[in-house]
Order: sequence, then C-alpha cells, then structure tokens
Amino acid sequence: MIGPHTHEFDFERWPFEAPEFADALTTIAVLEDDEPILLVSHDAEDGMWQILCGTTNEPEDGRLTCLGCLVELDPTLAEIADLPKGWEAFRDAVGAPWTREKSVPFDEEGDEEEGEDDDS
Ligand SMILES: [Zn+2]
Repeated sequence: MIGPHTHEFDFERWPFEAPEFADALTTIAVLEDDEPILLVSHDAEDGMWQILCGTTNEPEDGRLTCLGCLVELDPTLAEIADLPKGWEAFRDAVGAPWTREKSVPFDEEGDEEEGEDDDS
C-alpha cells in the first residue's frame, strides 16, 4: 500500500514493539493540515495504532499510513511506545504530558473521571 521509503529519527532505537513500517491509522487532518497528534489508541484486538488529532472521527477522514511516518512527523510519540493494547493516551498539546487510560469497550458502562490535576 505504501511504497518503499525510509524514516529519519533522532533516537537510536525504534521504540515500538510494532514494526517501523506497521500499518497505522491517522487522519487526513494530521497528514495534510498539520493538526497536532493528541490522541493515540492501541487497538485491543489487532494491535493497530490509531494516531489521531481528535478533530475528526469521520471514517472518510481516516488514512492508513505507516507507524514510522507518524513517529517521524512527531517524535514525541516515542513517549507512549509502551502503551499496551486496549489502552489509549491523550494530551492537551504536543509536548504536554500524556494521560493514559484503558479503553472502555462499547458494551461496558464506564464511570469516566476527568483527571485534570494529574501532576507529572
Ligand atoms: Zn513510513
């Protein structure tokens, strides 16, 4: 789907368990409008990384690209490289600390808490 290409990173070692060229889902806004990546979800079932801006959830705005391309775009994604499957992470801005949360399946009633005063 994606032609041969290379990535350039500042870190020495690829931080993700998934391969550097693994499929990853993002949005057209991230790729074309430079929207910051603020929401990352690691799929519980297939392990797919969804690396999103949070500005659109429309299926037609989704774009399949490669994980390495997204990390090249935003190297701070390395901070959540160890996010387990079935978890998601979000932040207020690039460079802000990530908040990690276990993803709540649709068929479960989640008592969600907004943790605003999370110091790190
Ligand atoms: Zn790539």
